[in-house]
Amino acid sequence: MWNAPKVGILGGGQLGRMLVESANRLNIQANVLDADNSPAKQISFHDGHVTGSFKEREAVRQLAKSCDVITAEIEHVDTYALEEVASQVRVEPSWQAIRTIQNKFDQKEHLRKYGIPMADHRELVKNTPEELAEIGEQLGFPMMLKSKTMAYDGRGNYRVNSKADIPAALEALKDRPLYSEKWAYFKMELAVMVIKTKDDVLSYPTVETVQEDSVCKLVYAPARNVSDTINEKAQALARKAVSAFEGKGAFGVEMFLLEDDSLMLCEIASRIHNSGHYTIEGCGLSQFDSHLRAILDLPIPAKSLEIRQPSIMLNLIGGSTTDSHLQAAEHALSIPNASIHLYSKGAAKPGRKMGHVTVTAPTMHEAETIIQPLVEVVDNIRA
Ligand code: ATP
Ligand code: MG
Ligand code: MG
Repeated sequence: MWNAPKVGILGGGQLGRMLVESANRLNIQANVLDADNSPAKQISFHDGHVTGSFKEREAVRQLAKSCDVITAEIEHVDTYALEEVASQVRVEPSWQAIRTIQNKFDQKEHLRKYGIPMADHRELVKNTPEELAEIGEQLGFPMMLKSKTMAYDGRGNYRVNSKADIPAALEALKDRPLYSEKWAYFKMELAVMVIKTKDDVLSYPTVETVQEDSVCKLVYAPARNVSDTINEKAQALARKAVSAFEGKGAFGVEMFLLEDDSLMLCEIASRIHNSGHYTIEGCGLSQFDSHLRAILDLPIPAKSLEIRQPSIMLNLIGGSTTDSHLQAAEHALSIPNASIHLYSKGAAKPGRKMGHVTVTAPTMHEAETIIQPLVEVVDNIRA
């Protein structure tokens, strides 16, 4: 039996909260570093939590003192603090992996060395209209201007349709370190959760993600109308990409499936990921269970990563009023096999992820039929 390990988590948002749910079931104490009333702390009563931010060096030091291993629910953490405490406590995945991944440009430069296919991209060094116009000539229009750092839910992306958009794009992303990406004409977006253990790189099946305004809206597991070959290829690409980084735990890999059925990596997250929420109901071990097991060197039977029943996950995103997401949750109460997850983040802001619902059914078609009315409710409450 394992020796009651204590796991430190940088960040207590919804991902940390679902990680705590998994930890609770294994009698593992999770010490969360975040504000006092953060979603993860609300479901975990003990005196090991730390009040502060995952960006504060002193707070990370304090967390390190009370844990056997430290992990993060977010990549935008102080990796210099993690580097410092790595001599006292295990940090999983490695601070090097988090540091490279948290900068999307560095992430891509690193992955390029491993032959991972990606959209062609160029770094901006001056952030001037002339420089971006020159890059536009090289990459063509449209192109996606992206912040290298602190990007999430598309906040950090700007679609530059033509030269005329350049001033607005630079204004929208001003004062941020930037790079620009060639437009990827994808027919579908795919994602794979990869679990890196002490001696293995495992993957969950390939799922289909649907983004609306650059925010994940729906996840279909497994991906619909995707051949076994593509499903396998996407998993192999995801495992290869994650193998380029040191450390254990869950990594979310986002990909584009292009018209010619080739795959391109969109980005990697060094953590549990929205595209893997379906695993809670859909698989024997959820991504949160697997992440904990991976960082604690506990067994992960490969069979437990298979999909037990087709699943669809729908995000409940802050809508037109502060409680409109609750209307959707209320509607979901009457849907068979719908599991509702509310994150207890308080008042919603438009675009903020407030919860999600997963529906499982014997066939994907059935799951689609069951969830359709809820998708309509969610569409109606949009801000
Ligand atoms: P996340 O919340 O997943 O971390 P993010 O802010 O890091 O999002 P990306 O994942 O880079 O942003 O992009 C968000 C979405 O924008 C993608 O899922 C895709 O729909 C679209 N997108 C990104 N890059 C490109 C591209 N080069 N060509 C076309 N569409 C793109
Ligand atoms: Mg991202
Ligand atoms: Mg993304």
